[in-house]
Amino acid sequence: MEDDLQLQIRFIKMDQKATATLLELAAKSLLSNEPAAIHALEELPRDLFVPLFIAAFLGGHMKVLKEMVSIWPFHCLHIGTLSREESYYEILEAMIDGLQILPAQNSSTCGPKLRILDLMEDQDCETTCPSIRKTFPFLEEAQRNVRCLGIGNSESEPLSAWKPTEVLVDLSISGNLKKKQFLSFLQNKVEENIGSLHLCCRGLHIDSMPAVKSVLQFLDLGCTDHLEVYKADLSEVTTHFAQMTHLNSLSLSNIPFKSCKGRKFNTFLTWLGHQDNLQDLILCSFCLKNQLHKLLRVLPPRLDTLYLTFCGLSNRDVIALSQSSQATHLTQLNLSNNQIFSEVYEPFQTLLEKASGTLQHLEVNNCLITDSILSALLPALSHCSHLRILSFASNPITMPVLRSLLQHLTSLTKLKYVIYPVPVHCYEQEDFHSTLDQQKLAEVQAQLKVMLHAVQRDDMNWTTSPE
Ligand SMILES: [Zn+2]
Ligand SMILES: [Zn+2]
Repeated sequence: MEDDLQLQIRFIKMDQKATATLLELAAKSLLSNEPAAIHALEELPRDLFVPLFIAAFLGGHMKVLKEMVSIWPFHCLHIGTLSREESYYEILEAMIDGLQILPAQNSSTCGPKLRILDLMEDQDCETTCPSIRKTFPFLEEAQRNVRCLGIGNSESEPLSAWKPTEVLVDLSISGNLKKKQFLSFLQNKVEENIGSLHLCCRGLHIDSMPAVKSVLQFLDLGCTDHLEVYKADLSEVTTHFAQMTHLNSLSLSNIPFKSCKGRKFNTFLTWLGHQDNLQDLILCSFCLKNQLHKLLRVLPPRLDTLYLTFCGLSNRDVIALSQSSQATHLTQLNLSNNQIFSEVYEPFQTLLEKASGTLQHLEVNNCLITDSILSALLPALSHCSHLRILSFASNPITMPVLRSLLQHLTSLTKLKYVIYPVPVHCYEQEDFHSTLDQQKLAEVQAQLKVMLHAVQRDDMNWTTSPE
């Protein structure tokens, strides 16, 4: 009986696979003649829109895409994981061009179905949402005027509740010509449809601060939840992004030393203190020496991710972190490229003990960790039972200590990736700047592999960093 069932399931699976392939083939063949494909859209059954859309996107059939968007029979359209190297921005433009934007206050009941065009890359997103309502944590705050990704996606929703059409995007502001052209295209669209089109910028990546001013004239940053800025004065960040108060993730890198102190730094702290939803904070080349306590005071206590690389952290900063309310909640911590072990290791040991209940990802590359420090940290490290990734490359460690570490860490069943430093004996002069002896390194790798096999932890990956 059970065998029968298994067999049936297998056949159903095969059948589904065959149907999918057949659909793909049919879509491709239809798209080989664009005018015919466009003509066929009028009669196209609702169920075939999604497979045809995917094929048209991947094949770069812009005219068909524009037409499909204009008569899309669902409430939302997400590009999700669809991606294309060639003509990517042209495709997005064609899709936006196809949008039928209802003029404000139009209460017509026979308007276009499509109200949300989502052009953000998303790993777990279908092309359109099923009619069941999906919850989306970001949208749970009641008063925020953002409805997307299936919220209010009821087929019977009365159109009398007029809302602007939404285009969801992640934007990148840089010197890149294609990206610049896309931005000016968006600007025109917003200006042509004032009040009827909401350009919802969820993620903003900025490589060129001078170009930001013109973009801010038409971009509403009230919905932005991810901000990445490279090379900007802190006062520019706080002035230009004053209206951002719902950030989930903030990444700032290469911040000039002079803006990381005094009045500018204090204004930044005030701005940061308003980001109540912040989960991830990534700072790189951002001088925080003896100032981390000020930052931790304004950050949400349940911060998830904290990356502080090349931040000039001192022993005092590690003490502040170990005593902070964030320490017991962090799942990802990266303190690489700070000389935090040049004086004592105890504050870091305390930090590890505090974070041991939550920590999944730890990086302390190039932090001057020596044999004695690593040995002292071992007990605390082996309490981090949730740890999945540990990276401590570019630290002066010898082979006996590396072996002892491996023996301690094999009890951590969730730990799958360890990026370890090349032991010092593999370098000709026993320092990182001398030549690496590949033969000796290969022997180290082989030894570790044998040890892992002996304790049945072949599932663990021990590698040196790609230096
Ligand atoms: Zn949706
Ligand atoms: Zn929005």
